[in-house]
Amino acid sequence: MSCLFCKIIEGIIPSNPEYQDDRCYAFADIHPQAPVHLLIAPREHLVSLAEAGEEHPALLGHLLWVAANLARKKGLAKGYRVVVNTGEDGGQTVDHLHVHLLGGRPMTWPPG
Ligand code: 5GP
Ligand code: ZN
Repeated sequence: MSCLFCKIIEGIIPSNPEYQDDRCYAFADIHPQAPVHLLIAPREHLVSLAEAGEEHPALLGHLLWVAANLARKKGLAKGYRVVVNTGEDGGQTVDHLHVHLLGGRPMTWPPG
């Protein structure tokens, strides 16, 4: 297994889960870009959103629901941003699908 996030999800690389269930695993980003910066990754190794198939809508929806729940748990009542960087132009650097949950400061638009 060569995937970094698969190793984190499997516990081969130790991490502190913020949330986990049978479909996903959420943990803090190692280089936080906001006071709250969590990553929510499916246990299934999917390279990116671009690889999602017709069997995946429920899983994708679940990841967003988990992000909303974590935002509530973290007290992000003023708002937050959910990001799925996808592929080279999308700025994806880890090739295992993940949702970023960023909050705790005002966000700007457009992103870089
Ligand atoms: P991407 O650029 O693919 O959308 O996001 C990958 C994220 O994973 C980056 O924000 C980066 O800081 C984070 N990251 C990279 N390596 C590790 C690691 O070993 N542990 C954790 N917790 N986060 C990581
Ligand atoms: Zn993986």
